[in-house]
Amino acid sequence: MYDYDLLVVGSANADLVIGVERRPGPGETVLGSDLAVHPGGKGANQAVAAARLGARTALLARVGDDGHGRLLLDSQRAAGVDTVGVLTGGAPTGVALITVDPSGDNSIVVSPGANARLTPADVRAAKVLLASARVVSAQLEIPLETVAEVVRSLADGSRFVLNPSPPAALPAEVLAACDPLVVNEHEARVILGGSAGDAPEEWAAGLLALGPRSVVITLGAEGALVADGGSAARVSSVKVAAVDTTGAGDAFTAALAWRLGRGEDLWTAAAFAVRVGAAAVMKEGAQASFPTFEETQAL
Ligand code: ADP
Repeated sequence: MYDYDLLVVGSANADLVIGVERRPGPGETVLGSDLAVHPGGKGANQAVAAARLGARTALLARVGDDGHGRLLLDSQRAAGVDTVGVLTGGAPTGVALITVDPSGDNSIVVSPGANARLTPADVRAAKVLLASARVVSAQLEIPLETVAEVVRSLADGSRFVLNPSPPAALPAEVLAACDPLVVNEHEARVILGGSAGDAPEEWAAGLLALGPRSVVITLGAEGALVADGGSAARVSSVKVAAVDTTGAGDAFTAALAWRLGRGEDLWTAAAFAVRVGAAAVMKEGAQASFPTFEETQAL
């Protein structure tokens, strides 16, 4: 019997957002809008997305002993995430400094802060938590060596889902554990390098050749492509009026991981996840846009 449907091991950031007419050049100062502060980071986002759907979810992450850390803990708890695995201290909470111009384009500076201090030793110390989750998911906003330790520490029978974002070259032992590797188009192209090809089916074949047990490629408004050693098939999206696509991939990945833990096959789980991704693009923001289970059924 597992205590959690999903354990997310990943980042937690405070997103500090200012609207600007134009970006400052070197040595220049510009005035911007009032500051907006939102809880973010791919780990925190995926945990909130899963919990809001009703998954019993825990987060293994590190935040600073500061106001941003408390904001992140509060937002996790408000969504129903168990924060027993959220460690505090060692560095300031990770921050993303985001300027948004009138055309909606973002410029972002990330200070990983405490996320960079989530260590392999922290993972080893969380052995009981790891063994309590049916599915363990990770992203790459924490050190790669920490993700590798997660893979080594997986309990027998638990399933590993990796969203390699931001994309990086992955060691064979990490790739071999992914079931699935979940990427968007950009991440697929970076991981495949020059050999990508043009069609998602080609990317899926190329990614499978790197060793994961299965691959899911998200294709924005086109839905997703799901592939394992035996077959590959598209999962079509739900047609919605997109307002803001921020966090869509996080909502998709969290939903997929949860449903896989409930025993669904990859295709059935992805068919649910595209509904969750579609619901997430109908509202502004990342965590603020994640739907409840009932909202996905209404689509
Ligand atoms: P990311 O946010 O990582 O770039 P995608 O843009 O591929 O990832 O979006 C993830 C998922 O969210 C898609 O697979 C799809 O299910 C859903 N989605 C994204 N954009 C739209 C859209 N415009 N209409 C409907 N669904 C969308």
